[in-house]
Amino acid sequence: MAYKIAVLPGDGVGREVIAEAVKVLKALKLKGSQEFIFTECLVGGAAIDEVGVPLPPETLETCLNSDAILFGAVGGPKWSNVAYHLRPEKALLDIRQTLGLYANLRPVKVYPALVDASPLKREIVEGVDILVVRELTGGIYFGNPRGIEKVDEEERGLNTLVYTASEIRRIVKLAFEIARNRRKILTSVDKANVLETMQLWRRIVTEVARDYPDVTVEHLYVDNCAMQLIRSPKQFDVIVTENMFGDILSDEAAMLTGSIGMLPSASIGGKVGFYEPIHGSAPDIAGKNKANPLAAIASAALMLRYSLNLESEATRIERAILTALEKGYRTPDIAQEGTRILGTQEMGDVIAENLA
Ligand code: NAD
Repeated sequence: MAYKIAVLPGDGVGREVIAEAVKVLKALKLKGSQEFIFTECLVGGAAIDEVGVPLPPETLETCLNSDAILFGAVGGPKWSNVAYHLRPEKALLDIRQTLGLYANLRPVKVYPALVDASPLKREIVEGVDILVVRELTGGIYFGNPRGIEKVDEEERGLNTLVYTASEIRRIVKLAFEIARNRRKILTSVDKANVLETMQLWRRIVTEVARDYPDVTVEHLYVDNCAMQLIRSPKQFDVIVTENMFGDILSDEAAMLTGSIGMLPSASIGGKVGFYEPIHGSAPDIAGKNKANPLAAIASAALMLRYSLNLESEATRIERAILTALEKGYRTPDIAQEGTRILGTQEMGDVIAENLA
């Protein structure tokens, strides 16, 4: 059995952390005749430099013909002034939309060894275990009309927040299914007090909830949720929300774990599962062997679990991460007194060794 994996490192630290995730996957000894076949593709700024567009057709083709996609990060100052349709980040939006990846799962788990790496107090973050379910193919990032136009001699920017009832229903149902297999608490985050789109969101959550009497549902406005995530994050089990709110809240939640470099993600629901760390290309530390590769390595574990059905291998990677942290190995972003600081590549080596 050969598992075909499209590898899209992208730009900046994306390249560095994906190299470590691939290193760890190669170090996994698969059973029998199972093997991974990796195909590396251009995406983002690297693709613009090479072929003039952020998402070359061959990259998309390889993604569509693979069993799963492992993605690093795209973007950087070099490409920040190019036209919107040629920006590196546009590649990511186009992949999500073309593949129909409507659900982004972001587990926010505080590792016991990292409790003191969080900027919040130990008693607030200890034991936090949240899953953010973010809608990924709708909302204001994709809505039309959009653009910058001139009206009566003045420029104005325009974006549209739009959701159909069926788009809301499918993400909400998925979140209920997930909550049912966890602690059975679902928090739906909206802004129904000011946005009609979010009134529809809330109404559909209430309707779908009737099919899940075993799950406790709570509705929170996004501003309150942002505050509650810092005040008492342990109240949350599964959070379901629309695209932009989910983008912002999951970066905030990342800090509960100590660093954005710790958070993996899985984008599912479409033709091929897509796995990436939630961070960007981190131009400030790119090329310095300083990036934390654990989010990328944990994303590879999610890939094994959700797309390749290799649960025990996924668990082995997650245990190897846990062991490295318990032994006191740290990248600079999660460094604490008395711990051993490693570079990106050395952390990858430690995880690969720990698999045994
Ligand atoms: P960023 O996530 O790249 O960096 C934010 C901060 O987190 C920086 O201080 C960075 O050093 C730190 N950081 C990020 N990843 C880290 C890691 N693995 N280990 C240690 N520290 C880490 O966000 P940004 O600075 O707002 O964006 C930089 C570029 O990345 C922009 O072009 C942006 O559009 C792009 N971006 C891409 C993605 C993606 O590809 N999925 C996501 C977010 C941002």
